[in-house]
Amino acid sequence: MRASVCRVRRASIDYVPLRSSEPSHAPAFIPNYLAEPDDVRAMIQGVRQIRKILSSQPIASGVVEEIAPGPQAQTDEQLLEFMEKEGNCAFHLAGTCKMGRDSMAVVDGRLRVVGVDRLLVLDASIMPQVTAGNTNAPSTIIGEKGSDMIRQDAMPCRPVPTNLRCDGAPDLRCTAVAWLARCLINSNLIPLVGDSAAAKIP
Ligand SMILES: Cc1cc2nc3c(=O)[nH]c(=O)nc-3n(C[C@H](O)[C@H](O)[C@H](O)COP(=O)(O)OP(=O)(O)OC[C@H]3O[C@@H](n4cnc5c(N)ncnc54)[C@H](O)[C@@H]3O)c2cc1C
Repeated sequence: MRASVCRVRRASIDYVPLRSSEPSHAPAFIPNYLAEPDDVRAMIQGVRQIRKILSSQPIASGVVEEIAPGPQAQTDEQLLEFMEKEGNCAFHLAGTCKMGRDSMAVVDGRLRVVGVDRLLVLDASIMPQVTAGNTNAPSTIIGEKGSDMIRQDAMPCRPVPTNLRCDGAPDLRCTAVAWLARCLINSNLIPLVGDSAAAKIP
């Protein structure tokens, strides 16, 4: 049996600095594992808690021996040494591009990159704080919610007026604004998409 401890909301913060201003250079990855005493304390406590659970009945009757870290590792120092040598990480990578309003926020509440037009981020990187559980389902929901926002924010199709003339005063049924739009369309200042683009309106 394998039981492991993972502090999901850790105090030690990792970072990914750029190595240079050259875009093709990979950034550095500084994981900073166990840098904060609070994380060390919590992890040692976690190992002790696992031992307590596995030595309680009925589960204890199925345990033959402890293989790692092994019964010889008892003090805080010994447990920390084991973690530093053998430990691995189960952290979920998220939040490099977080949503928010503070100076570290990259995207706003509608997932738009602040200061860059027409650029959105829809993945785990926008999480302001990593979820306590696994991240695949939350990432999927971010994608679903973000695609809804894109649809909501999309410019609605505007019907092209067909009862306008451009060679004089606008038809009385039409507004001056629509008439002006028609003139601009015919003079190619406003491109039209679809069938309407094919023919100029008299
Ligand atoms: C080993 C491992 C095990 C995991 N196990 C679980 C689990 O059991 N349960 C769970 O819920 N979560 C798990 N996760 C986490 C989960 O996989 C992620 O949270 C989730 O995939 C994040 O989705 P994402 O869209 O943000 O990023 P990703 O799924 O990483 O998608 C990013 C995509 O962008 C593409 N890409 C990158 N750069 C470029 C580029 N320049 N141009 C074009 N495309 C690019 C990549 O190829 C990739 O397809 C695990 C993660 C790992 C690494």
